[in-house]
Amino acid sequence: MEITILPLPGESKKSGNMDESALGFGKIFTDRMLLVEWKSDRGWFDARIKPYEPFVLDPSCLVFHYAQEIFEGLKAYKWSDGTITLFRPEMNARRFNLSADRLCMPRIPEEFFVESIMQLVKMEKDWIPTAEGTSLYIRPAMIAVEPVLGVKSSDHFYYFVILSPVGAYYASGFNPVKILVEDRYVRATPGGTGEAKTGGNYASSLIAGVEAKKKGFHQVLWLDGVHHRYVEEVGAMNMFFAYEDCVVTAPLAGSILNGVTRDSVICLADSLGFRVEERPIEINQLLSDIKEGKVKEAFGSGTAAVITPVGILGYKGESLTIGDGGVGRLTRKLYDTLTGIQYGRIPDTFGWLRKIV
Ligand SMILES: *Cc1c(COP(=O)(O)O)cnc(C)c1O
Repeated sequence: MEITILPLPGESKKSGNMDESALGFGKIFTDRMLLVEWKSDRGWFDARIKPYEPFVLDPSCLVFHYAQEIFEGLKAYKWSDGTITLFRPEMNARRFNLSADRLCMPRIPEEFFVESIMQLVKMEKDWIPTAEGTSLYIRPAMIAVEPVLGVKSSDHFYYFVILSPVGAYYASGFNPVKILVEDRYVRATPGGTGEAKTGGNYASSLIAGVEAKKKGFHQVLWLDGVHHRYVEEVGAMNMFFAYEDCVVTAPLAGSILNGVTRDSVICLADSLGFRVEERPIEINQLLSDIKEGKVKEAFGSGTAAVITPVGILGYKGESLTIGDGGVGRLTRKLYDTLTGIQYGRIPDTFGWLRKIV
């Protein structure tokens, strides 16, 4: 698919050097975006890199009413020598199409998904921050734009990619978070959309997060939707528990998101000599293992924060400290190794990086 390049209307929005310590997450966007359309009678058409600007959409568009939407999240990293890389973008492409299948949306050629992002990032490379831990967050998404209120799969979609320079997630230090095990609301059930990266999963999860914050927790750990007994995942992260010689995470059984970071952690933990078990994690067994000191470390994995140490788990009014409540050795090692590979400080022996320049 040919991509047409449309000119910017004026100067770049970027004025001189950004204050890289004040970027935050997803608050500012670069000058350009990618937009491609799909119609049922034409397939994909009109791929263009154009100025970043608001969409003009009919209020009746299907996405506003029935949430036919999917998204992805990945990052571009700029090394100290100017090299720019993506981390395993072909996995995002594959997952995007699995989400598309589930939401009755058209597949996008995976090569095009990766190549078009590389082209867009290259054009916007001056926006990639360089301070420790900063990066360019890439947000591909697809929305249903057919203007009709009847419930159906849309005949018209926008696929688009926007870019946001983001700050270091741990600007104030790599500190453990407090997680509340949610025993009332559920995020996903077998046969549902838990495995798809779709906005609806987040909309229905917000209330649990709001209630957890009121109780002093940062995020929610979801249990399975049928028994409310098996640990699934946290907000936008997969969850790991480290024992003496093994690392445990929930299996990909259809209701949790298949994280790129999750897969990378599994490869790394294995290479560090840990046995990795993907198996159901029963909450009461987990709590007694924590109480007996068998669970040494717990952490979440996801693109935004890479690795998030978990210090405290709350469940039914009780708060349990994991290990000594600090950042464990494996947690730190995984964080240092993953970010080391992403920023070119550690050799990419797994072949995970795609070099843009
Ligand atoms: C995106 C996401 C993750 C993490 O996936 P990564 O590919 O590692 O960023 C985990 N859980 C949910 C629900 C997500 O949406």
